[in-house]
Amino acid sequence: MLLGLAANRLHHHHAEGALFEFLRQAESGIRELKIGFHAVGRTYDAITQTGMLQHYAPLVRYPHGSRGGLMKLVAEVVGMPEAGRTLDGAIYFIDPVDPSSIFPEALALKRQCLIHAKPFLSTVASARDWLEMERIHAGLARNPQADRLHDFERQTIALIAHDALKPTMLEFAGRNFELLSRFARRVGTGTTGQRLNELAWSRGWPLDQEWVYRFNSGPLGGDAQIADLVLDRRCQRAIFFEDPHVARQHEADIQLLERAVTTVTHEAVCVTAPHIAQRWCDAALLRAVRA
Ligand code: PGA
Repeated sequence: MLLGLAANRLHHHHAEGALFEFLRQAESGIRELKIGFHAVGRTYDAITQTGMLQHYAPLVRYPHGSRGGLMKLVAEVVGMPEAGRTLDGAIYFIDPVDPSSIFPEALALKRQCLIHAKPFLSTVASARDWLEMERIHAGLARNPQADRLHDFERQTIALIAHDALKPTMLEFAGRNFELLSRFARRVGTGTTGQRLNELAWSRGWPLDQEWVYRFNSGPLGGDAQIADLVLDRRCQRAIFFEDPHVARQHEADIQLLERAVTTVTHEAVCVTAPHIAQRWCDAALLRAVRA
């Protein structure tokens, strides 16, 4: 497993930065799973200065952002097979008010992860959640430090899908109905929420109750309303099946929601690839019965 690794300055310029918080909790899991990293210059330097991941050969230094480090990661997410440089996903800890987080290469990194169905992990909680999921699939014992992320009965989950992916969302929700029903609350954008409610009613959910609380439809501001919940730490997880192949009138709102998630980097998990969402549900069930 090989990931790109980058963090905006806020997340690595002091000892309490999100990058280090993540590594403190994740270093043993990274070593257990032998995860390789292509880390852009400053991020790599910050890690080595703290003495984390010492003598860990799979951590490889890439050029600084100003010398194309992040651009190279984008090509590797797409795949550079002749050069043996293909990434399985990327961790990019974003500071939404750092202008470099909206440089074309930063947007392309996310977009190519989406297109190639690879994880794009932009928050500490997303990266920890992903690592625990991979540990569980690898047959390892559960890490109690990740228990908080699995406390679904106290969490709200957002379910959103663009039009081309609504059938995928319905199939996903149908397949994982019981797990998703354990959340304290489900919220969604208008049309996705309506379709999910119809599914739930057809599965015996009480007809006088909504399974998903519906905000506005996406183009009318539903993503922004859900972002507000995220910012207030009232929504801990978003499953957002985005369609990267069409121009969207409300692109700004979609970006807003994703950037809201990064402002609460320790709390909020965002998953955009359907097969990773499924892999997460499978891991959650396995984890619940794992010692
Ligand atoms: P919708 O919105 O569920 O109302 O279609 C989703 C979106 O486009 O963000």
